[in-house]
Amino acid sequence: MGVNRGRQSFQHPGPTNIPERVLRAMDRAQIDYTSVEFQNTLSECQEKLGHVFKTEHAVITYAASGHGAWEAALANVTSPGDLILVVQSGFFSEKWSGFAEGLGLKTETLETDWRTAADPAQLEERLRRDTDHTIKAVMLVHNETSTGVVNDCAEIRAAMDRAGHPALYLIDAISSLACFDVNMDEWRADVVVAGSQKGLMMPVGLSFTGVSAKAIEASQNATTPRSYWDWRRLLTGMRQTSFHGTQPVTLIFGLHEALMMIEEEGLDQIFKRHNILAEATRRAATIWSENDGPQIVATNIKSRSDTVTALLMPDGYDADEVRRIALEHFNVCLAPGLAGLKGRIFRIGHMGDLNASMMLGALASCEAALEIVGVPYGKGGINAAMTYLVSAAGAEASLGSIDESVSPIRKSA
Ligand code: PLP
Repeated sequence: MGVNRGRQSFQHPGPTNIPERVLRAMDRAQIDYTSVEFQNTLSECQEKLGHVFKTEHAVITYAASGHGAWEAALANVTSPGDLILVVQSGFFSEKWSGFAEGLGLKTETLETDWRTAADPAQLEERLRRDTDHTIKAVMLVHNETSTGVVNDCAEIRAAMDRAGHPALYLIDAISSLACFDVNMDEWRADVVVAGSQKGLMMPVGLSFTGVSAKAIEASQNATTPRSYWDWRRLLTGMRQTSFHGTQPVTLIFGLHEALMMIEEEGLDQIFKRHNILAEATRRAATIWSENDGPQIVATNIKSRSDTVTALLMPDGYDADEVRRIALEHFNVCLAPGLAGLKGRIFRIGHMGDLNASMMLGALASCEAALEIVGVPYGKGGINAAMTYLVSAAGAEASLGSIDESVSPIRKSA
């Protein structure tokens, strides 16, 4: 199609589109990070982050990607040789588990098939057997970005409570925070990690860690070596009062603007918007799955993610070819399958600064790419998505009715 003009439709599940307002807020000269202006901006960010995490506890900010917050979470609450129970969900739970092993921790995995959410009863049963409380922490990825499967954090908490187990509860909310509900205090989570480049609509570079009083207490005696990540050096009581190194001034100004946008839209409305765009995607994908077409990876409807939908290709068809065509012909950037899923799945991100027309354009391009590549699929997905969006907008009534009082624009002969 030659040169692709206009904006690229960027449909990754992080990084996500950065709103103009956030870009403009970062487009400014550096200021002294010890200045009152900057420190006030940082404090406001800390307060607003607490609202987004739904916590009264401290939320620590690091100049790092989500991987940094992962390592920080593990290093601060464990000692070498501690056993961590990893609720398996996909690529990201496996990687986090690898980080734990890298720090000298032992891990045990609660298996899943990567297509369904973790089973709370299975977790409860394992914790009940751990009568001497060897398991130090339960590690869970809330939204497994590699598969589009969501784990139920409240149910996992309830299973831990039923087992009466004192393990710390560590949650990766990197691709769910500010997109669908993350409720750190209600779940009595001890550590919740997040990153800037997802629901917070920022560039990559900041990561965040909500830490409960119990986690801070555990960090006092934990012996896993750490310096940059050490909460003890960053917190005064329940509040972050220092940073290691130069503070990320530009990113904090962007974050402040993004948090203001989140406050203006309201978390409930943000969750609703994500749910509607995700449901439109699922409606299209369900139709595409007919005629032996690509299948939604998450098999259980209840566990389908509101931020990313992963589609498993029929045998013999390359997901990366669909992505290549979508990019070259329609300037739509879809996300690849990770590690062992490369070529087998592609992922449609529907998170962050996104609206219905962007979503419809991306879905239509996706369907067109399936057609061009010659993948079998059921036709009519876009219509299903559009029909759903019409009903979600509550527009059915006005669309079908005619205002009799309006005179025709064509004069009769
Ligand atoms: N955890 C989840 C669920 C993710 O989606 C990602 C990144 O996509 C990460 C962890 C890693 O975060 P980062 O890339 O910011 O290091």
